[in-house]
Order: sequence, then structure tokens, then C-alpha cells
Amino acid sequence: MMNAMDDARTDIKGMPLEELERFFRSRGEERYRAIQVSRWIYRRHAEEFSVMTDLSRDFREAIGRSCRISSSPAEKEERSHDGTEKFLFRLEDGEAVESVLIPEEARRTLCVSTQVGCALSCAFCATGASGFRRNMTSAEIIHQACFAVRRLETRGERLTNVVFMGMGEPLENVPEVSRAIEILLSPFGFGMPGRRVTVSTAGIIPAMRDLADRYPVSFAVSLNAASEEVRSRLMPVNRRYPLRDLIAAMRGIPLRSGRKVTAEYVLLSEVNDSPAEAEALARLLSGARIKVNLIPVNPHEQGDFRVPSPASVDRFRDILMAAGVQTITRERRGADIRAACGQLRCAPADPKVRGRTRSGRAEMSKNP
Ligand code: SAH
Repeated sequence: MMNAMDDARTDIKGMPLEELERFFRSRGEERYRAIQVSRWIYRRHAEEFSVMTDLSRDFREAIGRSCRISSSPAEKEERSHDGTEKFLFRLEDGEAVESVLIPEEARRTLCVSTQVGCALSCAFCATGASGFRRNMTSAEIIHQACFAVRRLETRGERLTNVVFMGMGEPLENVPEVSRAIEILLSPFGFGMPGRRVTVSTAGIIPAMRDLADRYPVSFAVSLNAASEEVRSRLMPVNRRYPLRDLIAAMRGIPLRSGRKVTAEYVLLSEVNDSPAEAEALARLLSGARIKVNLIPVNPHEQGDFRVPSPASVDRFRDILMAAGVQTITRERRGADIRAACGQLRCAPADPKVRGRTRSGRAEMSKNP
């Protein structure tokens, strides 16, 4: 088999419909071919042209000579006792990323990665600790959803939500994330409603405004502190985009009726979980259509933060609620397989770090 890296054919996975139409037109094909092929790839999960049996044989052969449909193998799969699953995908250049599938009542939520590593170095996050390697392509991003949909289908289930909350900062990879969003929302792609697609950001303000103008998706913003001083200490990105401006930008996101922007707040014992901080946060959010998601920190080796006691989590929540701020405490999912928030990383599967087996495949390490 040809090594995918040496394959000169154009990868059409990850191309939104308009791009695919332009591409086919430039090769002298009819425009409607794009709709047919798009349906095959994203609704019927085709990974080669030969299975697209309602297209003429001539077309399939011609397109197969110049195009391909990439598909990163899921090299490792783990399942938590709470039903959460984690998949590790091996990318064509040997890098690896993880995505997490979370069942919750009728919902099936996929948490996707957008970068290999992350450049933001948030103090509490494992992905940041391993540094930034590269942006993912839209093909690699959307493949995580293709894989999950296929997996769910074998059980008679459907993917209901996608959250851009895996490895990386989606708003530092806007072009590729935008292409992936278009495919998720397109009726010829995944056909998902915008409110079921959530982009989570550490607070890249201009990119957030830009995306909010272009797509009816939901937004989650990782606040994690109620003062500039604490936030800058935890999240260096706060020096570029300060909390004040970020809250103003969140208040300015256009919302359909009944909807809210989510503020995520990782609770770190004795760092940002005091009653005074809860009160300060309630003041910042007062009157805004913003709800708070409290996430007790999931520890990892590189950080030395402590998990807050259940009592201090409840106290924090009660102060926000008393001030009229809708607040929920996020249940911890998948921690036993290191699939919880802030625990995803690329290090365990990095072939450059771990070396290779005789077969040339990267050796998989057990989770520590
Ligand atoms: N870069 C994006 C998306 C990835 S992080 C962002 O910052 O939003 C997804 C969420 O996980 C963020 O809300 C982040 O604050 C949270 N998180 C990171 N590390 C964590 C940890 N160790 N424990 C709990 N939540 C964490």
C-alpha cells in the first residue's frame, strides 16, 4: 500500500460543499457531484469511491485516480467504567490526537481536538504542558466525528453534540475549524443544528467575534478566574486578551432567544475557589446571558493543583445561584482513562519520544 504521505492525490475529506463544488467544476465535473460525494462521505461514511455505486463507473474511476478520502486509524480505544470512551488517532505524519465520546442520558457528545498540542500553556492543563506541535487539518478534525458516528451506528445510536473542547485552542486554528464547522452544519454533511456544536475557547476575542458572526454555533469560554491577576497567572493568554475585554465580548455575542454563552470555570483549591471569588464572578456576569459550568480540576502529573472539596464546590455554586447566575457543576467523566477535561495529551503516543517497534508502528504506552 502507498504511504498516505507520498500520495499525491487530493484529499477531499474536510472540504466543505462549496469548496468541493469548485474543485469538481475545475476538473470539468458537474457541480451536483459534490453533493453526491459529500453525502457518501459524511452521511454514509464511504472511505473509497468504489462503494459509491449510484455514481457512474467512469466518474468513480476518474475521481479515484486524482482524489482520495483520508482516514486516520484509531490506534487505541479505551472505555471508562462510566461509559466514556477515548480514541487515539494516528495522523499521517506520525503525530497523535485524542477525542472523547461521552454518553449522557439521550445525548452522545463528542469532544474533538483541533491542534496537536497547544501553545497557550494554561497552568492546569495537560495538553499545554506538552507544548504545541501543529494545527490539525479540517480532514483530521472532521474524521473524529466520522469515526464516532460510525461507531455509534453499530449500536443503533446517533451523535447528538460536538464540542471543540479536546486538545488545542480551536480559535488559534480558525481556517481549519471553520471548514470542519461547515461540514458539521451542512445538510449534505452531518446536518447538525448550530446549538449542538460548541466551540470552547481560552478567550481569543477577535476570532470568537468572527466565528460568532459567521456560524450559529454555541460558545463556551474558559474564564477560570474572576480577576485579571489570578487569570494571568493561570492563563498567560489573559495578557493578550484581558478578562474585562473578554467578558464584554461574551456579552456581545449574538444569541437566539433562550440561549446563553457558557463560562467554564475550573475550580482549583485555594487558588480560585473562595467565596470572595464567587462573588466577584457573579458581579462580572450580572445581567448577562451567561451560564456557568463549574469543573473541579482534574489533576495531572505536570500540575500540582488540588481538587476542591465537594463542600467548597457547592458553596461556590450557591453564591452564584443566589446572585441569579445559572450554574451547574460538571460531572467528572472518564477520569479513569485520562479522558476528563484537561487530561488529553499527545505525549503518550508520540513516536519521536517513544521510539518504534520493529514493525515500524509507534509503540503504545499504557496510560500512567
Ligand atoms: N482551548 C480551549 C478548549 C480546550 S480546554 C479552551 O480553553 O476552552 C477545554 C476545557 O477544559 C476548558 O474549559 C479548560 O478550562 C478545561 N480544563 C483544562 N484543564 C483542566 C483540568 N486539569 N481540569 C479540569 N478542567 C480543565
